Amino acid sequence: MSKIITEKSKKAFLDAQSVIPGGVNSPVRAFGGVGGTPIFIKSGSGCCLTDIDGNRYVDYVGSWGPLILGHADPRIVKRVNEAVANGTSYGAPTELEIQLAKLVKEAMPSIEKIRMVNSGTEATMSAIRLARGHTKRDEVIKFEGCYHGHVDSLLVQAGSGATTLGMPNSPGIPGDFVKHTISLPYNNIDAVNEVCSRRGNEIACIIVEAVAGNMGVVPPAKNYLAGLREITKKYGIVLIFDEVMTGFRVAHGGVQALYNITPDLTTLGKIIGGGLPVGAYGGKKEIMDGISPVGPVYQAGTLSGNPVAMTAGIATLEILKDNAVYKGLEERSKQLAAGMEKVCNDANIPAYHTRVGSMLCTFFTSKPVVDYATAKLCDTGRYAKFFHGMLERGFYFAPSQFEAVFVSTVHGEKEINDTIAAFGEVVKTL
Ligand SMILES: *Cc1c(COP(=O)(O)O)cnc(C)c1O
Repeated sequence: MSKIITEKSKKAFLDAQSVIPGGVNSPVRAFGGVGGTPIFIKSGSGCCLTDIDGNRYVDYVGSWGPLILGHADPRIVKRVNEAVANGTSYGAPTELEIQLAKLVKEAMPSIEKIRMVNSGTEATMSAIRLARGHTKRDEVIKFEGCYHGHVDSLLVQAGSGATTLGMPNSPGIPGDFVKHTISLPYNNIDAVNEVCSRRGNEIACIIVEAVAGNMGVVPPAKNYLAGLREITKKYGIVLIFDEVMTGFRVAHGGVQALYNITPDLTTLGKIIGGGLPVGAYGGKKEIMDGISPVGPVYQAGTLSGNPVAMTAGIATLEILKDNAVYKGLEERSKQLAAGMEKVCNDANIPAYHTRVGSMLCTFFTSKPVVDYATAKLCDTGRYAKFFHGMLERGFYFAPSQFEAVFVSTVHGEKEINDTIAAFGEVVKTL
C-alpha cells in the first residue's frame, strides 16, 4: 500500500496557520488527537470527500453529524440554490420558519414550540438560560464527558475537542461562571439522586446527551434516562435532552422516541440544518413562552431562521420522514459495526464496540466504556495508528478516539465492505 500524497494539504496547513490560530476554525480538525497534517478538502459528493491533492476518501465524519444524506445531495442543493436566488436573509419572519418548526414538532411531540438559532452551542446556552429563568433557580447539572458546545458554564469536564486536546476545563472562564455547574459522572443515577436529595430545589435543569456522542458513543444504561425523568419531576427540575447530534440521527424522533422518554426541553442542531448553520431549542409551551418577546428571558439572532438554512433543513427533514431511510441506515450501520468487531476479534485486538443507529464507535480498550472515566482508558496511540492507516487507504474517520463514526444514507454495501477489508489490513499494524 503506497502512501497517499498530501503535499498541497501540507502547504495549505502552513499557510492557514499564518492567519488562523492552529490553521483551523474548530480545534479537532487540526489532527491534534492523532498527529500529522489535516487534509484540506476541495469537495464532497455522496459518501466521499476529495482533498486538494485529488485523493478521495470514504467519509465517516459527515461534517461531525449533519450530513445524514451525504454530501451535496442533489435534492438539497437544488432547493438551496433556489432559496439563495430569493435573497439570503431578511431579518423578518418567513413561512419557511413555520414549515421547519412543524417538521420538527411532528417528529418530536415533546416540542410544542421551538426557537431557531444558528448553532448547537447557541441552542444549549439559550435552553439553560430559559430553564433558569423559568425555575428561578441557578444550579445546573451536567455530566462528565458530555459536550454541549462551548458555552462558558458548560465547559466543565466537557467531551469532544476538549477531551481530545486534554483541556476539559478551559482557561478564560471565571470560576464564578462555573460555580453553579455541577458535573456528575454519566450513567450514574445514584450520583444524581444524592445531589438532588440535598439540593434538588436549587437546581434549574439537568442537561444530558441522552446518547452520549462526544466521548465516543456511550449509550445510556438501562433505566438511566427514566431515572433522570423521575428525579427531575420530583424536584421540579427542567430536563434538557441535548439532541444536537442525536436528533433525526438515532431515529426520526431522536433518543426521546427511541427510549420513549419525554424531556421538558430539547436542543437540536446538525441534521436539522441540512449542512447549513442551524440550531434550535424547543419543548413545553409553558416553558418556551418564557422567551422574549412573549416572556422576559431574552434571546435573539440576526441570522436566526434565515431562509437558506431553513430551506436546507426543510428539504432534509422531508426526506427523513420516510421510515425506509432509517431502515437502510440501520442495516448499513449494523454491517459496519459487526465487520469492525469481527476484525478486532480475529486479530485479538482488545476493543469495546458501541452503536446506536447510525452512530457507532470502536474504543481501543479491554473494559466496557460506560462513562467518561472508562472512555479515557482507551489506547489513543492505537487509535491514531488506526486513523492514519485508514486515511492512507482512503477512509476518513474522525481524527480522535472520542468521537462517533457516522454512517449516511449513501454509504453503500460496497463502501462498507471495502472499509472492513481495509481495517483488516490496518489491524495488523496496530
Ligand atoms: C455538536 C454538538 C453541540 C454544539 O453544536 P455546535 O453547532 O458545534 O455549536 C452541542 N451538543 C452536542 C450534543 C453536540 O454534539
